[in-house]
Amino acid sequence: VKVIVNPELCEAHGECVVAAPEVFDLGEDDDVVQVIDPAPGEQARSKVDLAIRLCPVLAIQVEG
Ligand code: SF4
Repeated sequence: VKVIVNPELCEAHGECVVAAPEVFDLGEDDDVVQVIDPAPGEQARSKVDLAIRLCPVLAIQVEG
């Protein structure tokens, strides 16, 4: 799985960080979420799917 966040859309509310903290991270001063693990294993898939559903601006995409 490859995880991509569209920085134009992300509003850094952090819902994805709550859903999948091992994949997404948000620093105090970040305007856009950081993908700390852009290629998480299959075991993280359900968390990534949850992050996709929770993102209010549909900024998260997966490939594969
Ligand atoms: S949930 Fe969406 S808008 Fe919020 S930080 Fe994550 S990618 Fe950005």
